[in-house]
Amino acid sequence: MDAALSRHVWQRARRCCEYCRMPQHYDDTPFEIDHILAKKHDGATAAGNLALSCFYCNSFKGSDIAGQGSQSYRSMLADKI
Ligand SMILES: [Zn+2]
Repeated sequence: MDAALSRHVWQRARRCCEYCRMPQHYDDTPFEIDHILAKKHDGATAAGNLALSCFYCNSFKGSDIAGQGSQSYRSMLADKI
C-alpha cells in the first residue's frame, strides 16, 4: 500500500478505529489498515475497501469473516463515516 493511500485512510478515520471508533491515542497498540473484504477474497487495496482498525477489531474480524460478513461490516462502517 502506498503512503498516500495509507495517509488518506488515517485522515478519513480521524485516527479512530473505523469499527469501534476508539481513538488511536487510547491504545498503545498501533492501529492497522484492514481490508474490509480480505485480499484472499479478492478485496481491493482501494480506499473504499480499507478501514483503519484497532488490534481488537482486526483480530475479532479475521480474514474469513470478511468474506462471509463483509456486507454487515460495510454497513457498520458506512454508518460511522
Ligand atoms: Zn476497534
